[in-house]
Amino acid sequence: MPEIIDLRSDTVTKPTPAMREAMYRAEVGDDVYGEDPTVNRLEALAAEKLGKEAGLFVASGTMGNLIAVLTHCQRGDEAVMGHLSHTFRSEAGGISALGSIFAHILPNQPDGTILLDDIRGAFRGSDIHHPLTRLVILENTHNRCGGTVLTEEYTRQVGDLVHGSGLKLHMDGARIFNAAAALGINARALVDPVDSVTFCLSKGLCAPVGSVLCGSTAFIDQARRIRKQLGGGMRQAGILAAAGIVALEEMVDRLVEDHRRARLLAHGLAKLSGVQLTNGEPPTNLVFVSLEANSQRTAREFAAALLLMGVGVDVVNPTTIRLALHYWIDDQAVERTLQAFKQVI
Ligand SMILES: *Cc1c(COP(=O)(O)O)cnc(C)c1O
Repeated sequence: MPEIIDLRSDTVTKPTPAMREAMYRAEVGDDVYGEDPTVNRLEALAAEKLGKEAGLFVASGTMGNLIAVLTHCQRGDEAVMGHLSHTFRSEAGGISALGSIFAHILPNQPDGTILLDDIRGAFRGSDIHHPLTRLVILENTHNRCGGTVLTEEYTRQVGDLVHGSGLKLHMDGARIFNAAAALGINARALVDPVDSVTFCLSKGLCAPVGSVLCGSTAFIDQARRIRKQLGGGMRQAGILAAAGIVALEEMVDRLVEDHRRARLLAHGLAKLSGVQLTNGEPPTNLVFVSLEANSQRTAREFAAALLLMGVGVDVVNPTTIRLALHYWIDDQAVERTLQAFKQVI
């Protein structure tokens, strides 16, 4: 049986041969002592790519977002975020469980933005009945909204609003390099207005493990302490960071290929009866597909049938599936995926 075409997520990406080689050769030391040269190099490189003073290598995007919120907020403070955000939906309530941070949820628009008026209206005054609003979180690309891209201009507007009220802005930039690739601009411009940003090395960039949290030197110093509190201080982590360096140096510029293949796949799917594109043409590497209302099958059943044809997809809800394009999916795999859809339909 041929190998499964795994479109469930871009997290399934295995390291490239160049990464394995770099991992094998990595110079390492004790990173809790600050002595791992490869981790130090990755953190500096990540900070430089995002135009921030400092970086912190963390185990996952979830951990990066959690540390950011715990660094910006105190117990009982409030963080404002979208109702479809990863931090609200998919991080196991960590900010509340571990930080006693109150999540203030605002509606995400279909393009992944939150209306400026909604953000403005969410800020509380000093009335003792209210929690103290401390932080706003944006997500770029916005996963659940369809891999949509927040523009530089929008992020700047939110930044001005947030900073004008003395608050902080965090960017969940798990796929920030996909956003930059889609806009054809430097990722630095996209995160210039934010105080902190997390991005994933282990998604489209193909590294096996890890994310980097970036911000000012003072912020990262404090974040480093919180990473230790959470048990995230790793030792010879340069073995992992080495793959992250290859990810940043070699895998960023090729993300446009994943976006091209997402459109290729979407165009093919759009011609089929029985399914439709949930959000229209995919802006980045994520393709969402809805089953038609009269479908005899749930998305779960549809996905199971696709798997029998050798194609793995993610089930988002009872009528929607998601397909993530990534390094290990070539044009032929896109073609085979379309054939599998035809057979299942
Ligand atoms: C994947 C993802 C994360 C972090 O995920 P981990 O699996 O913890 O690395 C955070 N935000 C968004 C939008 C994501 O897609």
